[in-house]
Amino acid sequence: MISLSGKKVLVTGGSRGIGRGITLALARAGADVLACYRSTGEHVDSLARELKTVPGDHHLVRADVSSAEEIGRLIEECRTRLGRLDVVVHNAGVISHIPFGELPAEEWHRVLDTNLTAAYLITQGALPLFGESASVITIGSRSAGVGIPLRAHYTAAKAGLVGLCRSLAKELGPRGVRVNVIAPGVIATEAELPPEVVARYEGLTAVRRLGRVEEIAGAVLFLASDLSSYVTGETLNVDGGI
Ligand code: NDP
Repeated sequence: MISLSGKKVLVTGGSRGIGRGITLALARAGADVLACYRSTGEHVDSLARELKTVPGDHHLVRADVSSAEEIGRLIEECRTRLGRLDVVVHNAGVISHIPFGELPAEEWHRVLDTNLTAAYLITQGALPLFGESASVITIGSRSAGVGIPLRAHYTAAKAGLVGLCRSLAKELGPRGVRVNVIAPGVIATEAELPPEVVARYEGLTAVRRLGRVEEIAGAVLFLASDLSSYVTGETLNVDGGI
């Protein structure tokens, strides 16, 4: 077991899918976790109930990370509720599938704001909350490395995260901040995919199956912990060998 006892962690988009798995895994490893989410509903209530069963100082905060103003409020919540940050997980993401010739500017900006600009704003806002060491973990996508039709905006944002993290790793390394990307392949979440799509994706992997949320959370635990203290500026593909 990896112990993150005493670590203070922010997870964005923690209410569903991969983010939910990351939030619970970090809390179960002993960290105090503040997870943000955008929409309210039973999925948030059930996460709150589940977090109550895990020892630690955990918080759920509503904040839309596509808004600079809400990010400012989110950072303030981290400061008042957690006091400092040791780990930041940029997980919140949105995707859409649109032919490039029809891609409206608003959609380009929505996807870039949530997937890329939020990582810039949140990391910058979190800097004063970092102590002698910190780990910034960004959830990118394997699709950014290969390119996918109808996803130019999404893959541009996810590829942008790789450049952002490589540069930040070099710039912030001297002050003890490590910055890495996790690039998931296709991960099964509550969002159901048509069986023929599942079969096609399974066939692309070496292990012939989709990934599990816990398998992304496992990579996050590694990068959040001191086991990865000499790893920075990296992109860790967690894709079943696509
Ligand atoms: P989901 O759509 O299942 O969950 C996304 C989470 O992010 C939700 O909690 C959602 O909240 C939150 N979120 C979205 N937009 C915002 C916002 N503006 N502000 C705050 N929270 C927001 O996505 P996945 O779990 O599938 O994906 C998680 C991450 O992993 C994303 O970055 C995605 O790009 C990446 N990824 C996923 C893959 C997969 O196969 N699932 C593959 C490769 C990468 P709400 O419920 O309120 O919308």
